[in-house]
Parts: sequence; C-alpha cells; structure tokens
Amino acid sequence: MRKPIIAANWKMNKLTSEAMDLAREVRNKVGTIADREIVLCPPFTVLSSVKGVIEDSSIKLGAQNMHWEIRGAYTGEVSSVMLKDIGCNYVILGHSERRRYFGETNETVNKKARIAFSTGLIPIVCVGERLQEREKGETLRIIEEQVKTGLSGLTREQGKGLVVAYEPVWAIGTGKTAMPDQAEEVQRFIRKLLGQMFGEENAQAIRILYGGSINPGNISALMSCENVDGGLVGGASLNVESFVKIVHY
Ligand code: PEP
Repeated sequence: MRKPIIAANWKMNKLTSEAMDLAREVRNKVGTIADREIVLCPPFTVLSSVKGVIEDSSIKLGAQNMHWEIRGAYTGEVSSVMLKDIGCNYVILGHSERRRYFGETNETVNKKARIAFSTGLIPIVCVGERLQEREKGETLRIIEEQVKTGLSGLTREQGKGLVVAYEPVWAIGTGKTAMPDQAEEVQRFIRKLLGQMFGEENAQAIRILYGGSINPGNISALMSCENVDGGLVGGASLNVESFVKIVHY
C-alpha cells in the first residue's frame, strides 16, 4: 500500500507572519493525521518559521528548489545540506515554473535528485507536458525523456523512495484540471517506466502525485485512480479551508 501524500506548494507567497498563521491553522486542523502524509513547501525565507510551527505534528517540511552542489561559490543559491539542516524532509525538483523561467533542464534535475538522496532529502520530481506537446500527441515521449533523464543513475533503493509529480503544464494555475483518465493514463505510463528503471517491485512503492489546479471539488475523482497517490497543490493550498478539504478528500 502506498501512503498518499498531499503536498502544498506555496510558491512565492506568504510573509513570515502569514506563513506561520497558515501553518498553524493547518497543524491545528490536520496535524495528527497518520493515514496520509502532509507536506508544506513554503518559500526558503520561512522554512525555519514554519518548521517551528509544525515541529510536534505529523506534517512534514519541503523546499521548492535547491542547488546541485553542497556548498561553494554559487551566489543566491541554497544547498541540500542547508535544507536538511533546518529540518526539511522533501524538496520539489523540476517544477515547470523553474523549467520555464529559470532554465531548469532534465540534466539539472538529475544532478539535484542525486544530491538530494545523498543528503537524505526525498525529491518530489515534477514532470509534465506543455499544451502544444499534448496537442501534437507528444505527451508520452516528453514524459519518458523527463523521467529517464531526470532520474538516471539513481540506485534501485533510491528509486523506491522517490516521489514523482505528474503536472501537465497546461493545468498549472489555469483552473483546467486533467480528467482523471488523462492523469491515470500518464501516471500508469510513468510507473511502467519506473519499473524498467528500478524494478517492478520498487516501482509499486513509488508515490506518483498529480498536480494541476487541484481543488476540493476534483480531488476525490483524481484520488480514485489506481496510479494517483496524492496531490501537489498550488493555489488551493494557500487557503486553509480548501487545503484541509483536499487533505480530507
Ligand atoms: C503547482 O504549483 O505545482 C500547482 C499544481 O499549482 P496549481 O494547483 O495552482 O495549479
């Protein structure tokens, strides 16, 4: 059985007091839940503050990005050991906004995924096709490239601990959600690829999340799909009521 994950990507939102208030409300409402994992991924600047709020709960902490080196002359960057040091368990890698605006590639995702594992962080590796790629029938080819390159060189044991998020780019922040059968088709394909890379048994343990305009009204149908093991939630995670409803799908 794969334990579902509901991860909140707060993106570049929330000042310290706002972040602490939201984290506190989430903790008060769902901080003892044990049958699913809740991961809050706030901006770097409030990771420590949020950590303080969720410390004694079952809620985990994640970052939204990191560098692929552990230390050095990389002005403006944050490393995996720094994230681990302040209590992160997870790190989102290869989000489509990082690919689009900051030049993230499958190769940099791969370097980051390797170092995340060696530091003890669990990467949530995002993959997903753009609208024009889906329209040209290239979805599965793009996903295959992202999965095979982004996760290459990981050991079978590391592969087993991975989290992958399928986030069709056309569904992120647009209000358009993939139909459950569209998500299932791609996520089943991702699990098949993971089986080829890490072994069938390990692939069955890997959590594959869906992301893209998840809201309280569409989460249940998505979660009823065999290969949807949770959600990566953007906009709807900024509001405690909607996030808590999603957690209770
Ligand atoms: C995301 O940022 O990963 C995301 C899926 O955003 P939204 O839920 O707002 O579409």
